[in-house]
Amino acid sequence: MSTWTLAYDSFVPEEEGLRETLTSTGNGYFCTRGTAEWVEANDTYYPGTYMHGGFNRATTMMAGRPVVNEDFVNLPNWLVMKLSIEGGAPFALEDVEILSYAHELDIKTCTVNRTVRFRDKEGRETTLASRRFVSMAQMHLAGLEWTITPENWSGRAEVTSGLDGRVTNWGVPRYRELEGQHLAPVSSGTFGDDGISLLVQTNQSRIYIGQAARTQVFGGSGAFPVDRAVHQEDGYIHQTLAFDVAQGAPVRVEKMVAFFSSRDSAISEPVVNSEALAARADPFEAAFADNAAAWEALWRICDIELPNQDRVQMILRFHISHVLQTCSPHTVDLDAGVPARGLNGEAYRGHIFWDELYIYPFLNYRLPDVTKSLLMYRYRRIDEARAAAKEHGYAGAMYPWQSGSDGTEETQVVHLNPKSGTWDPDYSHNQRHVNAAIFYNIWTYYQTTGDIAFLADYGAEMLVEITRFWTSIAHFNEETGRFEIHGVMGPDEYHEEFHGSDEHGVRNNAYTNVMVAWMCETVRTALDELSASQRQGLIEKLHVSEDEVQVWTDMSYKMVVPFHGDGIISQFEGFETLEEFDWEGYRAKYGNIQRLDRILKAEGDTPDRFQLAKQADTLMLWFLFPEEEVRRLLGRLGYPYKSDTARKNMDYYYHRTSHGSTLSLIVHADIEADQEPEQSWEMFQAALESDVNDIQGGTTREGIHMGVMAGTLDLMQRGYAGANIIDGVLTFEPKLVDHLNGLGFHMKYRGTPLSVKLDGTTLNVTVEDGGAASMKVGVGDTVKEIKAGETGTFAV
Ligand code: BGC
Repeated sequence: MSTWTLAYDSFVPEEEGLRETLTSTGNGYFCTRGTAEWVEANDTYYPGTYMHGGFNRATTMMAGRPVVNEDFVNLPNWLVMKLSIEGGAPFALEDVEILSYAHELDIKTCTVNRTVRFRDKEGRETTLASRRFVSMAQMHLAGLEWTITPENWSGRAEVTSGLDGRVTNWGVPRYRELEGQHLAPVSSGTFGDDGISLLVQTNQSRIYIGQAARTQVFGGSGAFPVDRAVHQEDGYIHQTLAFDVAQGAPVRVEKMVAFFSSRDSAISEPVVNSEALAARADPFEAAFADNAAAWEALWRICDIELPNQDRVQMILRFHISHVLQTCSPHTVDLDAGVPARGLNGEAYRGHIFWDELYIYPFLNYRLPDVTKSLLMYRYRRIDEARAAAKEHGYAGAMYPWQSGSDGTEETQVVHLNPKSGTWDPDYSHNQRHVNAAIFYNIWTYYQTTGDIAFLADYGAEMLVEITRFWTSIAHFNEETGRFEIHGVMGPDEYHEEFHGSDEHGVRNNAYTNVMVAWMCETVRTALDELSASQRQGLIEKLHVSEDEVQVWTDMSYKMVVPFHGDGIISQFEGFETLEEFDWEGYRAKYGNIQRLDRILKAEGDTPDRFQLAKQADTLMLWFLFPEEEVRRLLGRLGYPYKSDTARKNMDYYYHRTSHGSTLSLIVHADIEADQEPEQSWEMFQAALESDVNDIQGGTTREGIHMGVMAGTLDLMQRGYAGANIIDGVLTFEPKLVDHLNGLGFHMKYRGTPLSVKLDGTTLNVTVEDGGAASMKVGVGDTVKEIKAGETGTFAV
């Protein structure tokens, strides 16, 4: 099998939505689903194009109450191409006999290929082969090529090539009761001999989107004479191109498309620049070659090789391609965060959650400028986070659980339970732990890159303001002499409150509290990294007092962590008093019980009642930190940590977690790598297959899961190769070496590129030219200084 292709060889209508998501093409600026060009949105097909920051708010009246949602706008469909033969109805798969069918994503160049050989009702056999890409070389450009071969006929063909701004947000069935009309038509027009253009505007956020397309037809001997006509209506324009074709002679139709929005820099106006670019763009083949070269350059940095396992290798590459479709060097110039569901669907409305935590480690070690720009998305919204903190009576900056255009809280207040059909209240905004994730991301970005300028100019300010928020949401319990945090939710979204309590959120979520202790300590380390004048400047700007610093220090020693039994960290206060859940009974009754919240609520019950978790919560600690650090943190807080603490906690929660979020598979695979390698590998496989095989039954058609995709890549470097930064030295501790023979990848550590390869029981680390003259690398207890251009060999 090719490890560079995701391929399907028959048309399966029920799977088409999923395949459209999986075979999207994008460049970190905009992205388009792998939908066939000739279709319109219905229950089988869903053309969708999305760009970073393409948000729009709309109000829906629900039960007499206005509900505002910020959606991720489905932008005009530039794919529109239709074929009709001899004046017949436009070609559709449903109307013909399919003789052969192939649909694939060429992962290497991120190209969507579809070839259909069909026989129509008149007995004419035709092959229609389509190729298209959103260019990684030229961020505003996309190319589409059709090759039409009449196999047993000659006659007149007509191709319609359009730009359709009449599209709505309709991709997620459970959102369909909500307002989905986001685009208003502005204008359309023609340019040159063969160009059409379209301008639309989002109806609330007032973003203009311009597209321009040039469509040309070529035969064996060059450009083809065609008859053109233009059709326009509000928000829509197309051109028809009519021409004669001869049996056995392929004809190529090229549509080169330019895409701009009023959020772009260095433009006059979206249509002006779209038309200019479409007019001067290279023909398809040359533009395609540039695209392929740009991807090749990225693969040199980002590929992860696993030569002995074709399926794993293919999916790892497929995940890399999707991470890059959403976050690439083109993202650096944008005001963009990472949508949890990528840029190829409308699920979670393009919002930005804590999932960054799973995505940045892969980028930090390869494309750190991309992480930096994504972190700037948070910095630019710090005032909104400050306002949110203030509004809730807190200090500092409180970032929202779901973030969109301007950084206000975008979490819905009600959520449709597809199992019961009811709208349940949504309290998930209480997941304040997103603020711990942002802190952690800033700190690890700095650790990996040594980018002191970022820390000094932006990062430290966020660290201080986030710490302040935590100090103000916490309170001191005089009786216990410890700090507590009430009213929050951990990553486990199944517990919205302590069962029977009328308080939202839970008390003392252990993960949150330990992270708070860590942040209160780390913020001081971070300030110490700055030069005296940088530190002084920041302290003055933010009015940091000595008393405040003292509170940070106190909290770093005195956060409460609930325990029960013999060394089990309670997910939150009282977790152990909840009922045990009948896992077997529910599995027998429902089969897949990943989404226990929906099942229980549909039964009129609540997950709050039980000792269960949607996803890794307490165990996040061992995922984010090496065990030594967890031991140190708990020790600093005055809690015992025994040799079996990790094992006991992993076992306890493993048996109480439904993995209702696939992020959980990543965490469990990572933390079990040492002691339960087979279980770890199983979890890794499940994570790997989760989107390609849509294991959550229908969610991937609404958008990929960026966190789990990037998480599988991070498992290769941090989980399994065991990459870690210890006292400033990049160290490795390979695990599961039987499974990973031949594993190879590139990294960049504090500006120095290196390559890592696992060969049997040897780990080879080559320090490449272009960074430091030499670099210290550790494996286990062995540390070697490796000169640039040389390879250090370590036994594992
Ligand atoms: C998970 C969250 C995650 C969100 C977006 C939810 O299902 O529980 O942890 O942030 O999806 O991916």
